[in-house]
Amino acid sequence: MQATPHEPAHLTHPDVFIAGGGPAGLAAAIAAAQHGLSVHVADGMVPPIDKACGEGLMPDTLEALTHLGINSQAVAQAESHPFRGIRFITTDRSGQRLTTQAEFPLGEGRGMRRTLLHQLLIDRATALGVQFSWQTVVQGIEAAQGSARSTVRTNRHTLHPRTIVGADGHQSRIRAWAHLDRATISARRIGLRQHFALAPWSPYVEVYWSNHGQAYVTPIGPNEICVAFIAHRKHTSITEALAHFPELHHRLAYALPTNTPRGSITLSRKLHRVTRHNVALIGDASGSVDAVTGEGLGLCFRQAIALGNTLAQAIQSPATPNPLSSYQQAHIDLQKLPHFMARTMLLLDSSPHLRNRTLTVLQRRPHLFQHMLRVHVGQAPIRLFGSNGLLATGAHLLVG
Ligand SMILES: Cc1cc2nc3c(=O)[nH]c(=O)nc-3n(C[C@H](O)[C@H](O)[C@H](O)COP(=O)(O)OP(=O)(O)OC[C@H]3O[C@@H](n4cnc5c(N)ncnc54)[C@H](O)[C@@H]3O)c2cc1C
Repeated sequence: MQATPHEPAHLTHPDVFIAGGGPAGLAAAIAAAQHGLSVHVADGMVPPIDKACGEGLMPDTLEALTHLGINSQAVAQAESHPFRGIRFITTDRSGQRLTTQAEFPLGEGRGMRRTLLHQLLIDRATALGVQFSWQTVVQGIEAAQGSARSTVRTNRHTLHPRTIVGADGHQSRIRAWAHLDRATISARRIGLRQHFALAPWSPYVEVYWSNHGQAYVTPIGPNEICVAFIAHRKHTSITEALAHFPELHHRLAYALPTNTPRGSITLSRKLHRVTRHNVALIGDASGSVDAVTGEGLGLCFRQAIALGNTLAQAIQSPATPNPLSSYQQAHIDLQKLPHFMARTMLLLDSSPHLRNRTLTVLQRRPHLFQHMLRVHVGQAPIRLFGSNGLLATGAHLLVG
């Protein structure tokens, strides 16, 4: 799209161009448009875009969505299902079942199909005047500094935005082109998702633990559940994955799958920087936490709110030397808690002995799990949980 007399400047020269129209890109578009900025989003796919996901929206994720203008009523009106906490289930070496559960201190979570969430975000962005180019692949960028405009080339057009946002997922090309690839990767696992036609049997998201990773079950409708498996090794099929979780296998014995399974990589990745000149990264492009935390979407939405604030300031004061620096700092702060929770979960995943001991303790003292959940949803500070959190509890019991 070269500017012609028929094409308004906000299409070819938007304040903000966003590469990637997944949850992070759409949330960033909404946050920027809420500040009155003109926004153009391009994505190579056609909406609504589906992806392997556990499809659980934690209470803090719903709160962030409300800041983006999608309140819990709108989520409840779209097909979704409430859950009021988290339950862990495992079997120890002697075959004894261990289980513990806790309720969210405030509010409830919601399970919702990824495609419905995508449509809700698109509707909100469209209502705010965001422009979309679907089936449009970003093929190159030239990032500018200060008040100069950058250049973005896609398979359809060339644009000249003030700011470029890379929301193009794990394998972000924007990240590479902006030389922001330096990162620490602490875990790489593989997820597999399947929906089943079955009325939810539990008011919790249930997380089943085994020596072959986790399976977690999210209620997403009155007659549908989403099951996500996360493991270091790729499961060859849902049947093979279920074989590692006998209790869940038994529950799903007669349940019919409602679509084909979907797989995806999940990483715990921290980037050294997420901004350079007039380019900012968001969502999985900017680093990610292991899927089992259920915090990926919430993190995207909170990053979007912070990025919207920064972009509004940057565009008002284009002469500022590092216009995106406040987003860089906010990004560091926002990822601390999810990474802490991811480390805790991954340690439990890596040591069956520690996992069984910890679950034994949590089963006996459910208030500890309640406290962990309060920390998880941001309603209690990490330090209240001890410097090593849940692990301190488990490790203490290992030696004590
Ligand atoms: C198995 C699994 C289970 C999960 N469960 C949960 C959960 O229960 N709760 C939760 O909160 N989070 C969960 N997550 C995490 C969550 O799914 C991610 O954090 C989230 O999808 C990140 O969104 P994103 O927009 O950054 O990336 P994506 O959803 O990957 O979107 C990136 C978009 O960019 C587009 N794109 C890429 N390259 C280009 C290009 N060159 N030009 C144009 N477009 C491009 C793609 O088409 C895509 O639409 C889970 C993840 C996995 C893998």
